[in-house]
Amino acid sequence: MHVYHDEDADLKLLANRQIAVIGYGNQGRAQALNLRDSGLQVLVGNRDDDYAGRASDDGFKVVPIETAAAGADLLMILIPDEIAPELFSRDIAPHLDAGKVVVFATGYNIAFGFIAPPPFVDVVLVAPRMIGAGVRDLYLAGRGFPSFIGVAQDHSANAKAVALALAKGIGSTRMGVVEVTFAQEAELDLFTEQCFGPAFGHLLTTSVNLLLEEGYPPEAVLLELYMSGEFAYTLGKIAELGLVEQSMLHSRTSQYGSMSRGIRFVIPELRTKMIEGLEEIRSGRFAQEWAAEQAAGAPTLQALREAAQTLPLVLLEQELRQTLGDVPAAAHIEYRSQPPASTDGPTHHKGWLSRTLDRIRRLPARMEKGTKSQPAADTLSESQMEEVLRRFLVNARQSAGLQAFAQGRELTTHYLLRDSQLEFTMRFHDGEVTTGVGPPPSPAEVILETEMKVLDGMFTGRINAMRAFMSGEMSFSGEAKLAISIQQIQDDLRQLYTDARNTVV
Ligand code: NDP
Repeated sequence: MHVYHDEDADLKLLANRQIAVIGYGNQGRAQALNLRDSGLQVLVGNRDDDYAGRASDDGFKVVPIETAAAGADLLMILIPDEIAPELFSRDIAPHLDAGKVVVFATGYNIAFGFIAPPPFVDVVLVAPRMIGAGVRDLYLAGRGFPSFIGVAQDHSANAKAVALALAKGIGSTRMGVVEVTFAQEAELDLFTEQCFGPAFGHLLTTSVNLLLEEGYPPEAVLLELYMSGEFAYTLGKIAELGLVEQSMLHSRTSQYGSMSRGIRFVIPELRTKMIEGLEEIRSGRFAQEWAAEQAAGAPTLQALREAAQTLPLVLLEQELRQTLGDVPAAAHIEYRSQPPASTDGPTHHKGWLSRTLDRIRRLPARMEKGTKSQPAADTLSESQMEEVLRRFLVNARQSAGLQAFAQGRELTTHYLLRDSQLEFTMRFHDGEVTTGVGPPPSPAEVILETEMKVLDGMFTGRINAMRAFMSGEMSFSGEAKLAISIQQIQDDLRQLYTDARNTVV
């Protein structure tokens, strides 16, 4: 694969051509300033509000988006991706004519068919692998940052050269630019967000939970794992030197330990899950689901955000930040050598630990608030749980709420309680609910695996189901969208289960 640098790009291609930067947010501001500083003709298209004010303050001519679309030769679409399809068809497409160039900073809307520009324009990609602030700071520092470029439509037969010139204008060819398709850019971006990132997040929460359960001080655990900034520094070194080379910066004990024990974590299931995730992305199923979710006002996103805020790790981080200040790496060093003087020395540390643990212990109680069901006080034995489940499953078949959920749906869920022999199935099919103890007759679309106490907690309202997914208390395989859809019947499940439970306990 070729990596393009300054000498591969010609800014003269953009001379006397008006560039309109549409949107003056993270990328818009940084790219507009860099392009202007590279000697190019730039104006900003924005609604008349704060962002427009900022662009004016920075010395740009600011015009309405339609005016920018009509007047400019190159249009850089730098507004949020979820806004872009509507704005493009309303304010931009009617003003396009032959020879114009539409530039995207992500392949998403073109790759998944949400924007279809007319055939008489060039459509190119200039996608920095850098946040907006970095795009500007690195430009000013005389350094570069990588970008992906791509061509979706080449009406002028010169689209790639134009994309390279723009990449040079924003300062990216100083470091290196790689050509990809719009689909590749979008899929790689989503894969990082949906597979690599969350897998890493679970690695972190699993490690934190395990170490806390084993009695290590929470403060030490978070600092050790990532809040000292040491891990972030190591990631920087991996980028700079390479995964293996950077290991030479660590002690010999570390090298021997991580390489000899690392093989333990070669878990084939991780790859299987990543393939599932990639398939969802490539097929466009994720993009369609996300479009529908936004059209509905993003209720699932809201529920996920709320659940994430209740993760014990979030509370721990808050506590630690209050203790150490905003810059963990610096605060860490200071704290080690000089504990805060204003408080009562070592007991300050103890107080923090016990306060944090108290908050975590209180967490289930705090989460009862606002739920309809009463918390269950007793832990169920396996035989009690079996009886509760039998009654619950009989009642579930008759439930009007579950039958409504089953309308137009084909979903079999298989629950496995890994600390017992218990498993059960619920099938939602064309308005009907069928249930049974044991595995389903044919493979389920969603398999949920958890422990008896977690299921009991969820079905009695003591444990937030989304949080149980996020914290790893419950795991699932199958379609994420289907698994998340079960959230819609949480209240019904809770009521049915609690009724059944009350007759047993
Ligand atoms: P921002 O959220 O920072 O964009 C804000 C801009 O969009 C403002 O000018 C805002 O103006 C405008 N905007 C928001 N809503 C509307 C609306 N309804 N109608 C008209 N204008 C609107 O976006 P980013 O800079 O983060 O992202 C821009 C593009 O860059 C995206 O395609 C993104 O994928 C891509 N990208 C982003 C990266 C990043 O690090 N952020 C990295 C690489 C690529 P106002 O609200 O005032 O109208």
